[in-house]
Amino acid sequence: MENPPRGAVESGIVPNSLAPRAARPPCPGCQSKYNRTVGEFELIDRFFTRGPRRDDVRLGIGDDAALVDPGGAGSVVFALASASAENAGETETDATALAHDLVCTAFNRLAARGVAPAWSTLALSLPEPREDWIQNFSNALFATASPCGAVLIGGDTTRGPLTATLVAHGATREPTEDRPPAPKAGNAVYMTGALGRQWTVSAGTAPAEKPVSRQSVLPRVDAGIAAWDHVSAAAAIDASLAATLNDLLEPFGLGAEVEGPALPVAEGCADIVRRRGGVKLLAETAADPELCFIVAPERAPAFCRAMETTETPYTRIGAVAAAPGIRIRDVPEAGV
Ligand code: ADP
Ligand code: MG
Repeated sequence: MENPPRGAVESGIVPNSLAPRAARPPCPGCQSKYNRTVGEFELIDRFFTRGPRRDDVRLGIGDDAALVDPGGAGSVVFALASASAENAGETETDATALAHDLVCTAFNRLAARGVAPAWSTLALSLPEPREDWIQNFSNALFATASPCGAVLIGGDTTRGPLTATLVAHGATREPTEDRPPAPKAGNAVYMTGALGRQWTVSAGTAPAEKPVSRQSVLPRVDAGIAAWDHVSAAAAIDASLAATLNDLLEPFGLGAEVEGPALPVAEGCADIVRRRGGVKLLAETAADPELCFIVAPERAPAFCRAMETTETPYTRIGAVAAAPGIRIRDVPEAGV
């Protein structure tokens, strides 16, 4: 079975078909939640009942529980991303960045498993129902999630310290008989996109050149799905490229050699990378939402052909090493 077809999704952001919920009488036991006086239902109707429609959603927002039809004989896969006030902030930019990062992180985690996000659920805790903040958050959430075909099918909204958790759900294809072998020393390491946008933002200094907005990068869903049949291992970059590769390869007793000069640096970020200590630090600290892949030599041509069918830029950045640990070469080795 293929992943749920994109054809099942209507393009663009359209209102959900569900009728607005009627206001319920106040509930004395719901003090910790947004109650009728602060307009929880209005908030949900206005800001979260949006996005594409899918015909595999039987019940979406508006009911106590959502109901979907996963179809086929595959499994349902879940991946989650969470952020709290510490790294979320409360400005408009923060609301946009928070929503974009949540969607990218959760969707990339599914994509690294070769699965397209079909349905998502959102738990939101807000100190105040500030309309501008929620509007920015909602706009970025749907702008990032809707092009991937995912529908927001439910959630919960409470009053409290700012935290947001997005769960992405998707259905697997049937297992491929011819899965690539486990990672081995000498396999190639690839990554999608480039590093540096997140770093520029977190560095808090204005770069000499204007960096590409991180919102311009969508989750790497197409790349993850295209690559899946050809990769020995894959992961979504989380804290950093180095930490992600380490988590991916250490269980096999392996490590990686990353060629610093081969690392793709996001457009407009070259200056800040130089100023902040070069590509080694970039690989060790930049948390851009990209995917990395381990590819056996015999699978590389098919992997590259599959990646070419997507519009996702990708780069070979190094090789799997026999010893654990991630070594990042700052300059090309002599004679290499
Ligand atoms: P109450 O808290 O009053 O019981 P619910 O929690 O049932 O209300 O929420 C009403 C509906 O809105 C439900 O269908 C729920 O899934 C949906 N919902 C609530 N918060 C969100 C959110 N942040 N994002 C998406 N859907 C939400
Ligand atoms: Mg609720």
